[in-house]
Amino acid sequence: TQPFAGKTAIVFGGSRGIGAAAARRLARDGADVVITYVSAPEKAAETVKAIEEQGGKALAVKADSADPAAIKAAVIHAVERFGQLDIAVVNAGILMIKDVADFSVEDLDRMLNINVRGVYLAIQAAAGFMQRGGRIITIGSNAAVRSGHPGSSVYSMTKGAVAIMVKGIAVDLAPQGITVNNIQPGPIATDMTSDMIDALKPMIPVRRAGEPDEIGGLVAYLASAESGYMTGSSITIDGGLAL
Ligand code: NDP
Repeated sequence: TQPFAGKTAIVFGGSRGIGAAAARRLARDGADVVITYVSAPEKAAETVKAIEEQGGKALAVKADSADPAAIKAAVIHAVERFGQLDIAVVNAGILMIKDVADFSVEDLDRMLNINVRGVYLAIQAAAGFMQRGGRIITIGSNAAVRSGHPGSSVYSMTKGAVAIMVKGIAVDLAPQGITVNNIQPGPIATDMTSDMIDALKPMIPVRRAGEPDEIGGLVAYLASAESGYMTGSSITIDGGLAL
């Protein structure tokens, strides 16, 4: 009943929302979990506490995904604390909605640094410590499939980059027995979407927002031994929105 007993997971951006749900789910299924955060130490502490209350082991590490050295340090911290690394969930990401005319170079760089460069570097750092059977899961977005909302060009671009990056990295890591897959959620009820979720609901075929735990379930499948034949895939989970 605990498929991840004896395994260690790192969740980049695991303090709140989807990342926290993934961390709780992996811990419930037996993994020791390291979560990173950047701005909300109290949320990170809450997630660690929730995991400990369900009998698991967790540790929060401050690591800005825009900072290459911090990403590497977080992975080393996880390996030093728990002795190995088996699962990496690369979830940290930001959303800025602005029309093409309004995007400054600074904002463009910030989006790319966290949502694209940070994802690549997190995968690179984590893979370096994994053995055969290692599992890497990115959180992209259904915005990589359909960029249908004004102001979403840069966000969609970053998530499109994640989808194709995962294919290339999957090929590189296949000989080492490590799989890399990408989850593409649609609207999930989190802090990121709190001011837009009600407007989106009528457009979602299932007429509701997704729950973070629903993404946690897919993370658990992709982290499991069962998913071993799947690599380089992007799986959209969006209530049918991008259809
Ligand atoms: P939230 O804004 O609720 O949470 C974001 C998480 O990422 C927090 O744990 C936050 O840490 C962390 N984070 C943000 N920036 C950084 C950074 N620079 N370095 C380290 N950690 C960082 O977002 P969601 O849970 O909604 O989204 C998570 C992922 O899922 C994102 O990649 C997002 O693009 C993607 N996604 C979300 C959808 C949705 O509808 N919610 C839909 C499709 C994709 P802290 O608490 O310290 O700020």
